[in-house]
Amino acid sequence: MAVYFHEEDLPEGVLGQGPIAVDTETMGLVTHRDRLCLVQLSDGKGDEHLVRFAPGSKYDAPNLKAVLADPARLKLYHFARFDLAAIEHYLGVTAAPVFCTKIASKLTRTYSDRHGLKNLVEELLGENISKQQQLSDWGGPLINDAQRDYAASDVRHLHRLREVLIPRLEREGRLEMAQACFDFLPTRARLDLAGWANHDIFSHE
Ligand code: MN
Repeated sequence: MAVYFHEEDLPEGVLGQGPIAVDTETMGLVTHRDRLCLVQLSDGKGDEHLVRFAPGSKYDAPNLKAVLADPARLKLYHFARFDLAAIEHYLGVTAAPVFCTKIASKLTRTYSDRHGLKNLVEELLGENISKQQQLSDWGGPLINDAQRDYAASDVRHLHRLREVLIPRLEREGRLEMAQACFDFLPTRARLDLAGWANHDIFSHE
């Protein structure tokens, strides 16, 4: 198991077949303002790949974009809505089809209001992850070891979480509803980018 660091694109052929876990780190939560700094990927076989984009990057990353846009490859996220918007805005691709562990958690762990990745990893996998570097400067010239470990750990558990969450969705009769939510997520992200981030178009108001 190793963490690999790449600049500006993913090397060709470093990922195995099958679903791929994806996460992003940005300069903040306002997608248009806060640039995409890092895209993390894992094929679930033990290695993580971090792709870093420098200030002023052209985001010309053909290998990464090909993987993200591949309609035959399921992408696993925790809170896909944010990552999909950042990827769409900066890389210009729709990184679907989607499985979102946060949505799956909300549709099954109705006994809890704690749907953070750390909560899921603790409860469903019995492991501990640190979120200490979550609010750190991802735009600097160097990413330190603590940031590297944190960034990698955000994609390390998503395959196993999906394996636990699918039977729960089935048990509660909500797999179909979850799938419909996942299918809608790219549109939800586009609504965010288009100015409807804080307005629920399904509400009466
Ligand atoms: Mn993250």
